[in-house]
Amino acid sequence: MLARETRTYPTTTHEVTNQSGALTGVNVFAQDAILRETVAREGAGWVAERALRLGDAAGDPIWQERAHLANQNEPRFTSHDRFGHRIDLVEFHPSYHALMELAFGSGVHSLAWNANRPGAHTARAALSYIWNQIENGVGCPTGMAYSAIPSLRLVPEIRSLWEGKVLADAYDPRPVPIAEKAGATIGMALTEKQGGSDLRANATRAVPVSGGGPGGEYRLTGHKWFCSAPMSDAFLTLAQTEKGPSCFFVPRSLPDGTRNRFFIQRLKDKCGNRSNASSEIEYDDTYAVLLGEEGRGVRIAIEMAHLTRLDFAVGSAGLMRWALSLTLHHTHNRRVFQRVLAEQPLMRNVLADLCLESEAATLIAFRLARAVDEAAAGSEEARLLERILTPVAKFWNCKRAPAFVAECLECHGGNGFIEEQPMPRLYREAPLNGIWEGAGNVICLDVLRALQREPDTVAALLAELSLARGADRRLDLAIDALEVELSDTRDQEHRARQITIQIATVMEAALLVRHSIPATADAFVASRLEGLPNRAFGSLARDCDLAAIVARSRLS
Ligand SMILES: Cc1cc2nc3c(=O)[nH]c(=O)nc-3n(C[C@H](O)[C@H](O)[C@H](O)COP(=O)(O)OP(=O)(O)OC[C@H]3O[C@@H](n4cnc5c(N)ncnc54)[C@H](O)[C@@H]3O)c2cc1C
Repeated sequence: MLARETRTYPTTTHEVTNQSGALTGVNVFAQDAILRETVAREGAGWVAERALRLGDAAGDPIWQERAHLANQNEPRFTSHDRFGHRIDLVEFHPSYHALMELAFGSGVHSLAWNANRPGAHTARAALSYIWNQIENGVGCPTGMAYSAIPSLRLVPEIRSLWEGKVLADAYDPRPVPIAEKAGATIGMALTEKQGGSDLRANATRAVPVSGGGPGGEYRLTGHKWFCSAPMSDAFLTLAQTEKGPSCFFVPRSLPDGTRNRFFIQRLKDKCGNRSNASSEIEYDDTYAVLLGEEGRGVRIAIEMAHLTRLDFAVGSAGLMRWALSLTLHHTHNRRVFQRVLAEQPLMRNVLADLCLESEAATLIAFRLARAVDEAAAGSEEARLLERILTPVAKFWNCKRAPAFVAECLECHGGNGFIEEQPMPRLYREAPLNGIWEGAGNVICLDVLRALQREPDTVAALLAELSLARGADRRLDLAIDALEVELSDTRDQEHRARQITIQIATVMEAALLVRHSIPATADAFVASRLEGLPNRAFGSLARDCDLAAIVARSRLS
């Protein structure tokens, strides 16, 4: 089923030439010098063995075919069996199950919590970055399992029953009670019809069964307009108690083996992310356990969102990296006008510009991952940096991904637009990370919240940037300008995007100046800090060393 026919017939009308062929047989960790360097520098070089194993899958034609099939053959929902009993069944193509098995079996969801050594979040970020070069739909359940752990720990009984199962490097899709499962997945059901960004508008009601309180049993009634991975074993959800929005744990199966009253209404027909099911659900007197105090639900949701936002900053960087690798492969194996496409001066300008963007996205994502590690180890300075860099990197990497992937698709010419090729899938996936866990404006308003409620985040940010001072006058001036921008408290809400973009760009420039080759750092500073105000990829100045920039990003 999976090994597609590779022997070809002789054609009678023409010889097939000048097609670039698939990018296979590569290892996206072993052959990505930027990723290897970055992961080691940010404290997780020890993940290499796992990363190498997973890195092979991205270049393996069998896994590439599975990713394609899992997205072509979308999940199907059956509400009732043929006798009329409600079953709420979501069925997936076998390729999806194989991908889930690979991702969960590789610890893409769990390594941060299982490794128990410095750099654990960064190491997991490396796996997630690689995963996003294999298949993106499965990145949803892995990301939710990763970020759910702190919430599961709020209730000792849930922790002892569930944490080990969620963190098992195993995938077990059977709909059975948790005690019988080898591994468990967790979904999140927050968004309702009347509001997703404004979670306080949630209307689902929660009634305590007896007394209530943390760890107490409640019954939920209401709906969720978006609930991805609805076949998960349990969900973190929000519902209103008398004290306001509160966070609940909703298992799919009850301890006696019966199903909880968790009703899938239908699956969403989505623009992308098609291998992953996203549903609308209803609660109707549904069993739930309160996590934390009543009225603290939004706070708990925001804490989870901090980790999912890191995952999206990393994931978008990974998605961009795969789009770039495909593009570099295609343009080096296609000739136009008697020349290799990648060597045409204007194409080289486009490719080099894409390389800068991809490396910058990678560096900012992994710098954030290290801040998360150091904050978890108790560093206050890292906590402040993490607080501000999380929304900055989430906003900017997710915002850049769609334009980046569109440019990569265009580099493939007509082939880029054809569904058998990988580019259309990446193109339809690219905008998603910018929406869930906070769409762009909401994320920029979170940057402001960090600046206003924790003004020390500014000092942490400037301290990090100052490490790059003295190497490039243009960067020094940009850091000065940012300092002025951040000290201006007028109309901040109106300026939130501008402020966020400025922090992101200066941070990326600082990281490249410190850690990349001079050609890359120089071209980034010249184009992003000084260049055209309204630019498109491919507008680097004539004195940039394009060949060196492209060579650095090629899988080697
Ligand atoms: C494929 C997919 C899967 C999803 N899966 C899940 C899931 O599993 N669980 C879940 O809970 N949710 C899920 N979501 C929902 C997602 O998290 C929400 O769509 C998102 O949070 C935005 O909420 P909304 O759709 O209600 O838009 P709205 O809140 O109406 O926002 C619309 C726009 O307004 C902007 N905006 C909001 N407030 C402001 C403001 N104060 N100032 C300026 N602009 C503002 C936003 O940035 C956004 O661009 C999923 C969404 C998608 C597309």
